[in-house]
Amino acid sequence: MADARSSAREKQAQHRLLAHPSCHEKCGVFGIYAPTHDVARLSYFGLYALQHRGQESAGIAVGHNGKIEYHTGMGLVSTVFDEETIERLRGQVALGHVRYSTTGTTSAANAQPLIGEHRSGPFAIGHNGNLVNTFHLREQLSEEGVEFSSTTDTEVILRLIEQSSAPSLELAIAEAMHRMQGAYSLGIMVPDRIIAVRDPHGVRPLCIGRLNNDGWVISSESCALHVIGARFVREVEPGQIVTFSKSGMEAIQVFEPERKAMCIFEFIYFARPDSHIYGRNIYTTRQRMGNLLAQQAPADADLVIPVPESGIPHAVGYAEVSGIPYGQGFIKNRYIHRTFITPDQRLRDLGVHIKLAPLKEAIAGKRLVVVDDSIVRGTTTGPEISLLREAGAREVHLRINCPPLRYPCFYGIDTSTQEELIAARMTVEEIRDHLGADSLEYLTMPNLVKAVGLPKNNFCTACFDARYPIPIPEAVKISKAMLETEDVK
Ligand code: 5GP
Ligand code: SF4
Ligand code: MG
Repeated sequence: MADARSSAREKQAQHRLLAHPSCHEKCGVFGIYAPTHDVARLSYFGLYALQHRGQESAGIAVGHNGKIEYHTGMGLVSTVFDEETIERLRGQVALGHVRYSTTGTTSAANAQPLIGEHRSGPFAIGHNGNLVNTFHLREQLSEEGVEFSSTTDTEVILRLIEQSSAPSLELAIAEAMHRMQGAYSLGIMVPDRIIAVRDPHGVRPLCIGRLNNDGWVISSESCALHVIGARFVREVEPGQIVTFSKSGMEAIQVFEPERKAMCIFEFIYFARPDSHIYGRNIYTTRQRMGNLLAQQAPADADLVIPVPESGIPHAVGYAEVSGIPYGQGFIKNRYIHRTFITPDQRLRDLGVHIKLAPLKEAIAGKRLVVVDDSIVRGTTTGPEISLLREAGAREVHLRINCPPLRYPCFYGIDTSTQEELIAARMTVEEIRDHLGADSLEYLTMPNLVKAVGLPKNNFCTACFDARYPIPIPEAVKISKAMLETEDVK
């Protein structure tokens, strides 16, 4: 009886944990060691450049004289920080984080960096990714008497490090890495150094930059290096711990590199177009996807338009090869990231108008090729097509620069439960009909890989073909209602 009760409790706890939105987030990490610079101010601008990776909360921690101070809050970087808070954060080293979670519950308690205490001293941690064995680790740690104040996997990493008896933080991190499974790009700060950590598959990006001759920077994306005048040095290798301090850069290879599995969706949608990953510029890679899509799926049309902002490089590439003129068909309100004011019913009925307005003069009477990076749930693409029709578009040929998204992501991106993914429920023809397009074509996997320009086994492509590079425990699969489906080649 006691067993049955405890197993029911276990299941409930497991359900709560798995269902918690903060388990699935894409984020941005920025860290800097630069004793002669205003590190908090530079982190502010670094995070500002990484804002696209998370708009829910932001935080900066600084280290000085053996102590850590920090400020975190809900909302955009520009909302969370003002001159006064930046002035107060003085130090020789800083760690910043922007966090994103797509589901309703938002909580200041989950804002990062989180602060911990190891026997070697205090530390701060910021995470981009998602562990797949969070529940298991949490159970183990709880049995060891560790208490938790949130349900985030970042706290699990923090507690793993805290309870390690290793003499240095780097060794404690290495111990933790042996227990962690999943995707993690971490920034970890102690009062006199910054540490970059990447999982053995390198699922999420993380790179290193140099600031003048005395500073080091780590960043989720290279776009944040240029903003503060730092130059790109290299990516943090999968399975590495890299420390930056007054002794310079020191790397420990904790795991021999396994099969690399960089998230291919970073190239399609997440990363900023001016960033570089695997030595490839994101903008030109997307342009190449558009080039190949134009070859693969031509359309008889008068104008190629992007769905702004993310579809722009893809559309430029499509127009280039198709020979059809490129133009704007939508105007996007640049100031909308997340609006916290709920529209009234009349405005809700207008739906997508708040973000996107059709440019009637440019599209009326025309046969359009509409190019976008991806379709996830299909809830914005349909209304967008209606807008174009209402504005007088004669035909709408939809071109999508990745294969159909059919499977959930367990590595730090909320592509929702599987049944929410429109391509998991419908065939391409059904999606076309549902969205009201005259034709619909998706970029094929071979063309996607060709555009990125490296063999497929350098990437995670699981949301397209269910080939998960890091095994997913059954219970976690259930949380996303993962169906047993055959691999798509
Ligand atoms: P849907 O029609 O599936 O509702 O929306 C498709 C649009 O969502 C595309 O324009 C694509 O750029 C965008 N998108 C793709 N992935 C994400 C994501 O993770 N978060 C957000 N906010 N938009 C996404
Ligand atoms: Fe990226 Fe998709 Fe793999 Fe998730 S499943 S890491 S979104 S490629
Ligand atoms: Mg988009």
